[in-house]
Amino acid sequence: SLETSHQPVLDPRQLARQLSNKLLIGGALRPAIDGKTFPIHSPSTGEHIGDAAEASAQDVDFAVDIAKSAQITWARLSVRERGKLVADAGQVLVDHTEELARLIALETGKAIRTEARVEATWASDCFAFFGGLGPALKGETVPFKPNMLTITKREPLGVVAAILPWNAPLALMGFKIAPALVAGNSVIVKSAEEAPLCALRMVELLNRVLPPGVLNILSGDGPVCGAPLVAHPDVAKVTFTGSVETGKMIYRAVAEKLAPVTLELGGKSPMIVMGDADIAKAVDGAVYGMRFTRQGQSCSAASRIFVHASVFADFVKRLRARVDALKMGDPLDESTDIGTIISRTQFDKVKGYIAHGREIAGDKAIACSALPSEAHLKDGFYVQPMLLVGVDNESRVAREEIFGPVTCIMEFSEYEDALRMANDTEFGLCATIWTKDLGTALDAADRLEAGYVQVNQNIVAGIGTAYGGYKSSGLGKELSVSSMLEHFTREKTIIFNMDK
Ligand code: NAD
Repeated sequence: SLETSHQPVLDPRQLARQLSNKLLIGGALRPAIDGKTFPIHSPSTGEHIGDAAEASAQDVDFAVDIAKSAQITWARLSVRERGKLVADAGQVLVDHTEELARLIALETGKAIRTEARVEATWASDCFAFFGGLGPALKGETVPFKPNMLTITKREPLGVVAAILPWNAPLALMGFKIAPALVAGNSVIVKSAEEAPLCALRMVELLNRVLPPGVLNILSGDGPVCGAPLVAHPDVAKVTFTGSVETGKMIYRAVAEKLAPVTLELGGKSPMIVMGDADIAKAVDGAVYGMRFTRQGQSCSAASRIFVHASVFADFVKRLRARVDALKMGDPLDESTDIGTIISRTQFDKVKGYIAHGREIAGDKAIACSALPSEAHLKDGFYVQPMLLVGVDNESRVAREEIFGPVTCIMEFSEYEDALRMANDTEFGLCATIWTKDLGTALDAADRLEAGYVQVNQNIVAGIGTAYGGYKSSGLGKELSVSSMLEHFTREKTIIFNMDK
């Protein structure tokens, strides 16, 4: 097993090597059955930091068998006991925040201060929150007929498959596994190909407290490992975060066995800035909402900003100055604000969109923030944040999810036009409106077609709030009490005939 004391391992390179070639099934670290592995390279240096075990359908079968029997015992614990174990497991993450943050930074290129440490904390917070929610797993008494005592009860689903993307692997894992476990399910995580080691470490840390088999993790290829997991007859539920394309594939596969699914997919989130808005705050909201510090690799990124003509020039000028001031560089350096893009594939894709954006925006395409030194640039996937000013809402850069540090800034004169353009998208994850006028704020909140609407702020997925998209952005919610009940339990009706 992994040679670890209970002290955090603060050298992420050492940790990456220690975590290499392993899956975690039934509480034990083990290689894939056929011994296959795939290499992991740091996106900031290009160095080979370790290898991940490449699971196949055989490993899936093995993990499902173990998770299935562990779930039976787990579900028999009282909700308080399960909740306490989940909260205690989260405390192990708290104790290893720094270690996890460094590994995230090395493996995914996220800057340690602005992103990686925030993500590690976000992940552990999910366990603290859901760990206290065991008592919420209650049913109802139903006034059905006077002589029939009718109650409902919430039951766990069984084995849950949690399929992760690479952009916020630990936080998104927390969103999924903390409520699933409290509700009495066991879980098999499938990590993203680009970020398997930090996810494995998080699962290994949680397994120090959780009973063996309750939480397992596989790494590997989507079609080779993810697809058999999704299709497995004993997997009772799939919760997925990732691209629309894969989400649709999973939805089809799960339909075959009529199992429930939660899909958190892409976005092209609008931000409307009215003429009366507090511009300084709106600019802050754009910087944060666009997640420039994460190279824009966020599903909720404010990637279409509609600004009223009366404040347009001022807004663009101030936003440019703010983004220009961000420092791009080594993700493990505390002074860095912006790290790297995750991989060569994503880097090339983002560069392609930027080339197109430059073509259509001409000299209104603004590249911000200095690139890092030549030495960093040689091996790291650094992209300069781009403000594409004045592009059309119909253009490709305004319609497709770029998943890079690129936002389109468009001018409007009439509120109705801004609202129409904001809603004119296949996506519906997040939307924000910035105004001091209560009537406008209420109207927009009512009419914006998105699952997560904010007024005069742009936080991302607050724990406790129901987070999830409309339209192509997905199905179902995460992070709230109701999402735990709806997505990780099933409801049974029981009727007692009280006739004597
Ligand atoms: P992706 O769809 O390429 O991969 C996600 C996961 O699905 C990976 O683990 C992959 O191995 C797996 N997978 C691929 N094919 C599969 C198959 N046939 N069966 C089962 N699993 C399979 O997504 P990505 O590129 O890793 O992540 C980026 C995407 O995630 C973006 O579109 C982003 O918007 C979205 N995202 C959404 C949210 C949200 O909450 N709505 C949050 C973060 C990211």
